[in-house]
Amino acid sequence: MTTATYRARAFFEAAGRVGVRAAVGTDRPDVLGGLNPGGSIALDFHRPEAEVSKILRFAQAYPLDAIVPIDDDTVILGALAAERLGLPFHPPAGARATRSKYELRKVLSEEGLPTPAFRLLAAEEDPARLAKGVNYPCVLKPTFLAASRGVIRANDEEEFARAFRRIAAILAEPGTAERGGAEAAMILAEDFIPGREVALEGLMIGGALHTLALFDKPDPMEGPFFEETVYVTPSRLPAEVQAKVLRQAERACRALGLSEGPLHAEFRVNEGGVWPLDVASRSIGGKCSGALRFGEGATLEQLILCQALGLEPPSLEREGRASGVMMIPIPGAGVLRGVEGEEEACAVPGIESVEIAIHRGGRVVPPPEGERYLGFIFARGDAPGEVEASLRRAHAKLRFRIEPD
Ligand code: ADP
Repeated sequence: MTTATYRARAFFEAAGRVGVRAAVGTDRPDVLGGLNPGGSIALDFHRPEAEVSKILRFAQAYPLDAIVPIDDDTVILGALAAERLGLPFHPPAGARATRSKYELRKVLSEEGLPTPAFRLLAAEEDPARLAKGVNYPCVLKPTFLAASRGVIRANDEEEFARAFRRIAAILAEPGTAERGGAEAAMILAEDFIPGREVALEGLMIGGALHTLALFDKPDPMEGPFFEETVYVTPSRLPAEVQAKVLRQAERACRALGLSEGPLHAEFRVNEGGVWPLDVASRSIGGKCSGALRFGEGATLEQLILCQALGLEPPSLEREGRASGVMMIPIPGAGVLRGVEGEEEACAVPGIESVEIAIHRGGRVVPPPEGERYLGFIFARGDAPGEVEASLRRAHAKLRFRIEPD
């Protein structure tokens, strides 16, 4: 996992529940690592081929029963190491294809899955000229970032040129280029696909995709930016449409060669069909997995660890209740000075918790530049509509004091 991960606590808790000792591979040296031999290893996730030998050496000293890459940035190295050690995870080629939105489009379109027309453009080129070569509306995006960072809709040539320059500036930010390698110099342009959006959370075991949850995203995501907000499960889409989503997810996994481990995929649904927009070989991001419980209360991370260890997961059945999470929209850029209304928000019926994820004094940045979440609201209820209403009512109680830049 990277040190920027939101997922450390959930995975460490799961390790405790499953009863295994976790060694953490992360992107900064653990200065106190000597006090806990075998507890940590520093890895450069940007050089997966070169770094895999470090993991193999580590495994000689401290044998590993499973490798669980947690964040996007860690899946390629994790897949390479798992393959070398004979441990179950998606094959490196599949993990790699899910890490490039361009490679993903190529694989899915070759498979015949509904795919927007797409073109890879050099970020240094003249946007005014490139703007003449695409359809409108279109979506411009970097190929390797997440959480909708740098994803912008353009309705005409002028908007294209503005969006293009804005993404080029994001790609030029310190630390961003090294994450993208050669693709940090590229921008993907694709047709805008209208429609309703759903997210599928799955776990692949022995090549079979088990759907753990299908989330509706009830807020219309029309752009120009695509900030994630509400996720609610179970989906309210008609059963036959849900079945179509699952079939497309299975086709996408087969085409990508994914076989062992978590899967998080996003789809748009319209009269033209079910369009896979994004497929990731990791689990749901942020702290959103808190919205999921299985069987007698197992967490998503427990299921993932069991699969990786070759153990039978306690259950693959989501609880019977409806559940949802709101990634709290960021009202503006600046420094977070205070949050009011947390108690009132928590008191809204159906609300389970409100977690502010940025500390006071920390910077908040809305999309398309931002990549950190302001916080999360969790709710459960008897029906998805009720959960959605609870989330919106709780959100209305929150007031953020943000000192503008
Ligand atoms: P990320 O992996 O950073 O979330 P995505 O490529 O999944 O980036 O895009 C983020 C969001 O932007 C999607 O969930 C969707 O709402 C919107 N989006 C991206 N590409 C398209 C497209 N071609 N048509 C319509 N909406 C899109």
